Amino acid sequence: MLPPFDLCEPQSLADALQALSKHSDARPLAGATNLVPDLRDKRETCRNFISLEALDELRYIKRDGGRVTLGARTTIADILDDDGMKTDAPALYASAQIFGGAMVRTAATIGGNICCGSPSADSVPPLLTLDADVTLSSACGERTVPIDEFYVDYKKTVMRSDEMLTSVSWNVPPQGSANLFYKLARRKGDAITVTGVAVMIAVQGGVCSTARIALGSVGPTIFRAGAAEDMLMGKALSEDIIEQAAKAAADRCSPIDDIRAGAGYRLQTAHSLTRRLVTQAWQQIA
Ligand SMILES: Cc1cc2nc3c(=O)[nH]c(=O)nc-3n(C[C@H](O)[C@H](O)[C@H](O)COP(=O)(O)OP(=O)(O)OC[C@H]3O[C@@H](n4cnc5c(N)ncnc54)[C@H](O)[C@@H]3O)c2cc1C
Repeated sequence: MLPPFDLCEPQSLADALQALSKHSDARPLAGATNLVPDLRDKRETCRNFISLEALDELRYIKRDGGRVTLGARTTIADILDDDGMKTDAPALYASAQIFGGAMVRTAATIGGNICCGSPSADSVPPLLTLDADVTLSSACGERTVPIDEFYVDYKKTVMRSDEMLTSVSWNVPPQGSANLFYKLARRKGDAITVTGVAVMIAVQGGVCSTARIALGSVGPTIFRAGAAEDMLMGKALSEDIIEQAAKAAADRCSPIDDIRAGAGYRLQTAHSLTRRLVTQAWQQIA
């Protein structure tokens, strides 16, 4: 059973931001696919929510030159319905394909997935490999933060209590690049990620010109494996180089044991999935 809570239902973004600025204890409520289970299971203590339901101005997919922007209320189903996302964000599209079940995908928003701060949020590793930026808005204005700097600790972000995420944007991957995501979970659908890995590899002149590797569910936050990326940059990738980078990626992980998997298994799969995805990306470009 849900505890009682207050729900403010603004009809515009401006009103929502005003409401957030007046109530420092209030939080946005988007698709509620995280918040309702968390309220029901008493993991959520907030009792004051600002519904984003009526804010259609935050539900869009825009393209401008080589830049793609998703409004915060864009749902996972919207991403799947947009054919262009297969090339504009291949790893994000792949993550949407294995996200929850149909009912969850229809309600769950990209903003809610980014802001819940869960280490298993499936859209986040792909967005990290796209070097995405998030826009945080308040009644006083807005600021843009690289998604790589958005998370500070488990379920903690740099977002202030008077701010909400209004959009996420990135540059379309260049020609000669591959962007992949793999979600390891106990089932294909409706399962929380045990280990999630996304990679972006681009090649110029026969060597790796962009290397981004992001890992989920293997630490308190989702993160880029910078040392592993550095090992790939400027090189023609061989089995040996990829293996060393995969090991470096696993070394950066600090997983926990939980009901879905042990820490040791997560470490092993972070290593093997990184190796597999970088190899696949390199072969795909070749
Ligand atoms: C059965 C089931 C299956 C699921 N499967 C998956 C899965 O496969 N992969 C996955 O990653 N997740 C999964 N989830 C978790 C959840 O669906 C996602 O995290 C979803 O994207 C959350 O979005 P939402 O719009 O429902 O957020 P909400 O539940 O409304 O909000 C989540 C959090 O984000 C905050 N928030 C929401 N929007 C904003 C905003 N614009 N600005 C600031 N803060 C905001 C809220 O205050 C809250 O703290 C699943 C959940 C269920 C119940």
